[in-house]
Amino acid sequence: MQMKFFRFKSLLQREGWLTPAYVGIDEKSIIQYLSDQPPAESVATESVLGFALPGFQNSHSHAFQYAMAGLAENHPIGTDDDFWTWREAMYQCALAVDPDQAESIAAMLYAEMVRNGYTHVAEFHYLHHDKDGKPYAHLAEMGERMVAAAKTAGIKITLVPVFYQRGNFGVDFNPRQRRFISKTTEEYLRLLDASKEVIKSYSDARLGFSVHSLRAVDFADVKQAFESGPRELPFHLHVSEQKKEVNDCLAFCNTRPMQWLLENLPVNDRFHLVHSTHLDDGELTQLANSKANVVLCPSTEGNLGDGIFRMKEYVKLGGHWSIGTDSHIGLNPLEEFRMIDYRQRLVTNQRNTFDGDAAQSLVNEEIQSGRKAMGLSYKNHFEVGQPFDAVVFSSESHLVQNTSEKNRLATLVYTSDSSRLFGTIVNGKWVVKNQHHHSGNAIKTAFTKVMRELKNR
Ligand SMILES: [Zn+2]
Repeated sequence: MQMKFFRFKSLLQREGWLTPAYVGIDEKSIIQYLSDQPPAESVATESVLGFALPGFQNSHSHAFQYAMAGLAENHPIGTDDDFWTWREAMYQCALAVDPDQAESIAAMLYAEMVRNGYTHVAEFHYLHHDKDGKPYAHLAEMGERMVAAAKTAGIKITLVPVFYQRGNFGVDFNPRQRRFISKTTEEYLRLLDASKEVIKSYSDARLGFSVHSLRAVDFADVKQAFESGPRELPFHLHVSEQKKEVNDCLAFCNTRPMQWLLENLPVNDRFHLVHSTHLDDGELTQLANSKANVVLCPSTEGNLGDGIFRMKEYVKLGGHWSIGTDSHIGLNPLEEFRMIDYRQRLVTNQRNTFDGDAAQSLVNEEIQSGRKAMGLSYKNHFEVGQPFDAVVFSSESHLVQNTSEKNRLATLVYTSDSSRLFGTIVNGKWVVKNQHHHSGNAIKTAFTKVMRELKNR
């Protein structure tokens, strides 16, 4: 068997560092050797001056929204700018992009994710139809473009086609939402079937399934879609992001959205509940007990003024969570970690959001629940028999170079920006090295062309 070997200064496992770390991969990029001892026979080994962490998992993305990142920050005096006005700007962007443009935007975004250390993204995909709201001849045309973009950028993807039916609880959809709409469960399941075909074009594509939110699909159809949908795939859903959404739900059915979900669906560890911002005590406890996963998108939630998830209490209850970049206003996983921790510190006036080593808690939980959101699960960060996906931090930067192993992960998580990254490895190959993406120039050229066409920046 032809093996390729790396030697890292250290490699992070759930329980701590492996030092030094020898990683041998076969020609299918599967780890076959993992040890602090060199392989017995002398083989060519790439020696890396870096610390390898598992590739981060981005559990929530709306790729097209990257085209408007940073464009909703001008707030004229006297206007009431909140989530719902941002959403109008988002619709404008959603209505503007054709399939070629959507693919180029997504490729640029995904390349940037890899540069920041993400190796897998769950694309929560609801931009399904053409600009008039008519299904494309190829039903999953836009989903196929997301998969193609991921392939170009060298990131793994879980395509999560979204069932989107309504404008609000009991309210017909807004014409500006026309590209998102499946009128019935059957229509959505046909789209899901077509999506099953498009993931075959990329060996690192998988499928999830999803209802957008309780405000976007009738309760009866939420149940029907869940019951008749595939049983083995991760199930994603936005819930309780905004106070208005909770109040609208209460006005509509006298029940809070998370409460409705917990009472009406068999919520368990297949569920990935995006945001879950506004929960009462009972919902928080039941959610943690259900073993479901929350997907937090701290930079987007902050940007949109959503509110603050009750992380400290949730963690004490044993709750599970991962992170997503959602609208892509921020793409640095370490910044998401710090926001999760710091917003708790700010509201509790205490520093101990997590018991023990906070950096280790953050990384371990994000990797484990993030993989579940992708439809994957394995026990340790790196294992023999699994693909080799890693983000590598330089071991030569001044702080970590002079830091003990005990304090290394905290130093990386709490002090680094992306300039400290040595590179990102996907399936045993450097996709980004020294900030240079292997297809970066072509991806950027295509993206720039689209930005010139859209003229929205
Ligand atoms: Zn979202």
